[in-house]
Amino acid sequence: MTAVQNVLISGAGIAGPALAHWLHRYGIAPTVVERAPAPRSGGYAVDVRGVALDVAERMGVLDGIAEHGTGMASASFVDARGRRIADFTPSQARTASEGRSRELLRGDLVRLLHEPTTAYTEYLYDDTVTALEQAPEGVHVSFAHAAPRMFDLVVGADGLHSTTRALAFGPEGPFRRFLNAYISICTVPNHLGLDREVLLHNLPGRAIALYHTPRAEGAKAMFLVSTRSETGIDRRPAGEQRRFLREAFAGAGWEAGRLLSETGAAPDFYFDSVTQIRARSWSAGRVVLLGDAAHCPSPASGQGSSLALVGAHVLAGELARHDAPAAALAAYEARMRPFVAANQAIADAGLGFLAPRTRTGIAVRNALVRAAPLLSRVGGFDSKLSTAAEALELDAPAPAPG
Ligand SMILES: Cc1cc2nc3c(=O)[nH]c(=O)nc-3n(C[C@H](O)[C@H](O)[C@H](O)COP(=O)(O)OP(=O)(O)OC[C@H]3O[C@@H](n4cnc5c(N)ncnc54)[C@H](O)[C@@H]3O)c2cc1C
Repeated sequence: MTAVQNVLISGAGIAGPALAHWLHRYGIAPTVVERAPAPRSGGYAVDVRGVALDVAERMGVLDGIAEHGTGMASASFVDARGRRIADFTPSQARTASEGRSRELLRGDLVRLLHEPTTAYTEYLYDDTVTALEQAPEGVHVSFAHAAPRMFDLVVGADGLHSTTRALAFGPEGPFRRFLNAYISICTVPNHLGLDREVLLHNLPGRAIALYHTPRAEGAKAMFLVSTRSETGIDRRPAGEQRRFLREAFAGAGWEAGRLLSETGAAPDFYFDSVTQIRARSWSAGRVVLLGDAAHCPSPASGQGSSLALVGAHVLAGELARHDAPAAALAAYEARMRPFVAANQAIADAGLGFLAPRTRTGIAVRNALVRAAPLLSRVGGFDSKLSTAAEALELDAPAPAPG
């Protein structure tokens, strides 16, 4: 019998509900505190790849993931006049041949993971942890709203800007590896009438994309801007962030002007830095980090959701295998570190693919994309991604109690 009987998870994103599933399976009681009033719906498209698909299958959500696919059928780079200059295969279309990547909206994935856990998980919405006090037998937790409680273990699954990490390890600064780019995504009208299609236009170091999936209203606009250093714009008000985007894409051609003006009315304007989290340790006493809070690989890697799913499986398995929490947390970290490192390492190539820094770079990328069948053989981003996504051998699930 494991020494850990009840666990507080901060964050009901991808890692949180996935961990709740596995803890329950091992007879450990999960409580999840989520800052939002409900699991957050909608959002951008994410891929679940490689080993994470095996985890999804073990959780019984793989069919749901396939059924909720974005259905993306084609993707093209376009020039300033909107002419398609190179076609690349979106990940959803690739699944037919490769079978190791599934694309869906983040909100659909969160719902698929969250719904089955509501039968056995205590969810505290609209609340947040405000203080953590470690004791030999557990952690005293204070909340903004709920009464203080003691838990055997606290898991910070509260994302890139984790409050748990700040409380247990200190401010975000030393853990950040800024990848010299900012990203913004929002919903806009589908004025081009796109049908399950991605269009992407580049200026040096910048990308502007528009995509449509039948799983969401309208279309999604995505803006990616490279910079030489941190400007702090990610922490400024949305109005300033929109101005930053307008300046970055001034004279960009294609649909840039229209899309930028539409960000003003978008109900879900998202803006953040493209940042990785690199921490020397993921646990301090009985507080442990999971998913983006521990090791955000950045959207440029496209592997954050997959790392969160796999991490939840590994962490719960080690808690079930070890009596002493410290031994479980050390084993979790030892298992996950190489996998995380492999997936964080591909982010630079991901950025280079999405937004090459020079006009020559854009032309070379387009030429490589046109030669797509050769791409995997010349070590393109896709093949690096597929290799990293498979770089962990899953243990068999630990035996369930009783
Ligand atoms: C634009 C973009 C594109 C992406 N594309 C991909 C992709 O193609 N493939 C992929 O695998 N990944 C992708 N990702 C990354 C992916 O979304 C994340 O890596 C993944 O969601 C991480 O899961 P998580 O559960 O660790 O954190 P999150 O999903 O961020 O969930 C954290 C949860 O914690 C909650 N929370 C935050 N603070 C608190 C608090 N103080 N108290 C309580 N709750 C709190 C939040 O509301 C949220 O529900 C992308 C990310 C972005 C931004």
